[in-house]
Amino acid sequence: MAKEEEAKRGMKREGQADGVPHLDKEQKDLLQDLARREGTPIFVIDHEKIRENYREFKDHLPNVQIYYAVKANSNPRIVKTLFDLGCSFDVASMPEFMLVHENIRNMPDKERQDWIWDKIIYANTIKPIDTLEALDKYKPLVTFDNIEELRKIKLHAPNAGLVLRIRVPNTGSMVELSSKFGAHPGEAVDLIAEAFNLGLIVEGLSFHVGSQCTNFENYIQALQLSANIIKEAETRAGQRIKILDIGGGFPVKYNPEVKSLRTLTRRLNGEIKRLFTPDTEILAEPGRFMVANACSLVAKVIGKAVRDGKKCYYINDGIYHTYSGQIFDHCTYPVLAFREGEKQISAVFGPTCDAFDTITLGAELPELEIGDLVYSENIGAYSHASSTCFNGFPPAKVVHINR
Ligand SMILES: *Cc1c(COP(=O)(O)O)cnc(C)c1O
Repeated sequence: MAKEEEAKRGMKREGQADGVPHLDKEQKDLLQDLARREGTPIFVIDHEKIRENYREFKDHLPNVQIYYAVKANSNPRIVKTLFDLGCSFDVASMPEFMLVHENIRNMPDKERQDWIWDKIIYANTIKPIDTLEALDKYKPLVTFDNIEELRKIKLHAPNAGLVLRIRVPNTGSMVELSSKFGAHPGEAVDLIAEAFNLGLIVEGLSFHVGSQCTNFENYIQALQLSANIIKEAETRAGQRIKILDIGGGFPVKYNPEVKSLRTLTRRLNGEIKRLFTPDTEILAEPGRFMVANACSLVAKVIGKAVRDGKKCYYINDGIYHTYSGQIFDHCTYPVLAFREGEKQISAVFGPTCDAFDTITLGAELPELEIGDLVYSENIGAYSHASSTCFNGFPPAKVVHINR
């Protein structure tokens, strides 16, 4: 027995050695206790882990101000935890803006700063007119990437400070963003000049290398492009461009192949030092990195069957809910059992009546019984968030007609 324990612990150590954050026995026991107490499915958020992630990021990029991208997980308690650490925020809708602003409003007067830029960047390059009008009184920092948006900002939020988002290589990133956002680098200097012509002020430049970026060359090329544009725009406009926003994309170790944050930040720090003057204000907008490994999901087996000789399990969470990230985020979440036993390849389905609600056809699971609990780890980013009002945008209002 003792030997078996040893062997298991040895295996666990091996499991951790790949660098992928796995739950240990104590954490797994806690999840099961919580599920018994609260029912299932439950999405468990470990706030100490979020604090650790924040500190790790800060340690590796000491000269960078962190703007947590709220869309990765917009749970208000996560925002509060990060806010209390001194974190700033990247928001992309008015509901997200107000979620952060509530924390600013609740600060003691003496700590509160009127300068909202220190706490919030509105980093959606496309903003509805009513949003611009609502934002203007806060004198916000907002991004843009095209001439139409510039004209809208001039009319509806002339007090905003501007950050031009440029299009940079997203090669190999799990989620590609460059097809939807970013001015072509060749147009960037013209757009900056145009903004100044309109009487607006361009404070900085931003980019996003794509989410879960494991090809660090994307960052290196983006920094070089940004440095060239800033230099040329400053010469042309005769104005200082002082903010560089290096966006998100910082990868999570979902699997052993993902290189550590340190490998990336060592290069980033070097390139930033080489390419930008020391008074440049560097911002980053990590989303996934802050929350992915801080959350776990526990669900229950509600049915089982054998189809074409394969074990099939039906659980009470699926693709339309917490596993939505498998569709929208292109991320896969292994379904794991608390129970031990010889493993076989099994299918796991969500609870809905749609065959699309298939979590996996290739889970390695021991024989499970109805009522057993299963879990997924590292599921904190773009999971819970994308199954409801993603990015703070509500679904269409229902209007009834009866004729
Ligand atoms: C989604 C998003 C982020 C966060 O990206 P991660 O890859 O989760 O770090 C940051 N900035 C902007 C503008 C985004 O749209």
